[in-house]
Amino acid sequence: MAESLNRYPKVPGEEHLDGAIAEGVEGLRDAGRLFHGFKWSLGTSSNYSVVLQRNPLRLLLTSSGNDKRLLRECDFVVVDEHGKSLVDPAHGKPSAETGLHLLLAELPETGAVLHTHSVWSTLLTDRFGEVGFTLERFEMLKGLDGITTHEASKLVEVFANDQDIARLAGRVRPRVLDTEKPLKHGFLLERHGLYAWGKSLAEARRHIEIFEFLFEVLGRKLQGG
Ligand SMILES: [Zn+2]
Repeated sequence: MAESLNRYPKVPGEEHLDGAIAEGVEGLRDAGRLFHGFKWSLGTSSNYSVVLQRNPLRLLLTSSGNDKRLLRECDFVVVDEHGKSLVDPAHGKPSAETGLHLLLAELPETGAVLHTHSVWSTLLTDRFGEVGFTLERFEMLKGLDGITTHEASKLVEVFANDQDIARLAGRVRPRVLDTEKPLKHGFLLERHGLYAWGKSLAEARRHIEIFEFLFEVLGRKLQGG
C-alpha cells in the first residue's frame, strides 16, 4: 500500500499505538542523527528500538539497511514477541539483529534498546576479547542508572560476535536474565559494537553516550594519549 510510504508505520486494528509510534519514531530519528554525527552509526549500521506495549509485546524497531543520519518516518517497523513485522511490507524488514532487541525487551523495566558500532568499541573488544574490561573511578560512570559515585567499578562484558543472532542471543540470555548478578546497562559484541538499554529512550541514549565516552577515554589512555 503506497499510502503508507513516508508516513509512520501503523498496526492494523491497533490504532491505540499510533501516538506512541509517532513519539518513538521521532525520538529514534533524533538518536540516529546524533549517533551518526558521532560516527557511532555509519554506513547503515546499528539499530534502535522502543517498547510500545507489553502483553502482547509491541516493539518499534528500525527497519534494515537505512542511513541513520536520514531516517524517514517510514523507516521503522513494529514487531511482535516473535520478531514478526505487523506493519505494511512497504516499511521494510525488521533489523537483522531483532532477536537481541527482543531479548532485552524481556527485561520488565526496558523501555528502549540502542545499538551502535563505534571505532572505540571495535578497538577495545579487539584488544580484550571475551575477557572484557573494567571502567573505574570515572566521574562519567555516574551517568549509568544506579551508580552514584565515581569510585564505582564497572565490568564491561564482551561476547564473541556471531551472524546467527538466535545463537548469539542464546549466549547473552543467561547473563541478562541472571537472577543474582544480572548484566546491567549494556554489553559489547567483539569487533562489532555496543548494546545499551534503559527504562526510557532518554535513559538508553544516556547509557550509550556514557559508554561511548568512556570507551574513547580508555582507548586513548591505552594508546598513551
Ligand atoms: Zn550490529
